[in-house]
Amino acid sequence: MRFGGFVNWILAPQGYNAPAFTQNAMSEQSIFTRIVSGEIPCYKVYEDECTFAFLDINPVRPGHVLIVPKIEIDQFFEVPEPYYSAVFATAKKLAPAIREAVGSVRIATVIAGFDVPHFHYHLIPADSLSEIDFSKTKKIEPAEMEKIRAKIASRVD
Ligand code: AMP
Repeated sequence: MRFGGFVNWILAPQGYNAPAFTQNAMSEQSIFTRIVSGEIPCYKVYEDECTFAFLDINPVRPGHVLIVPKIEIDQFFEVPEPYYSAVFATAKKLAPAIREAVGSVRIATVIAGFDVPHFHYHLIPADSLSEIDFSKTKKIEPAEMEKIRAKIASRVD
């Protein structure tokens, strides 16, 4: 079996052969890889073999969740299977749970990636398009973040 460096060796599901461009054991880990490995704390709402989801620390709206694949690839269109499809399957699972937890009209989705070069899918509860404004993020107290996290996590199958 071939492994994609130390990071992907830890995170890859059994039998996954990482593409050559991920194979650099000396590369610096992204903040999201460090969250997935537990090195950096987060408000986790969901995890499975290929994906990991947690509250955004600077939410656009309360209940703003990020889903990351457990492989460190920058651009979404370069993410290999099974990770690529798994991110969207997780989004389908989490969106109704988030909507119910915070009572929003819709769950907007965004792929940006200008800050963190590790693909992440933003799920943002919103009642109107004007609420999706990344220049108006607002920190939430830890106790409130934990409440939101628990509400979402308890609604995921
Ligand atoms: P972008 O790369 O532009 O899609 O944005 C990166 C997102 O990651 C931003 O919304 C940040 O608030 C979020 N973020 C960065 N560090 C953390 C962290 N340690 N925990 C949760 N969210 C984070």
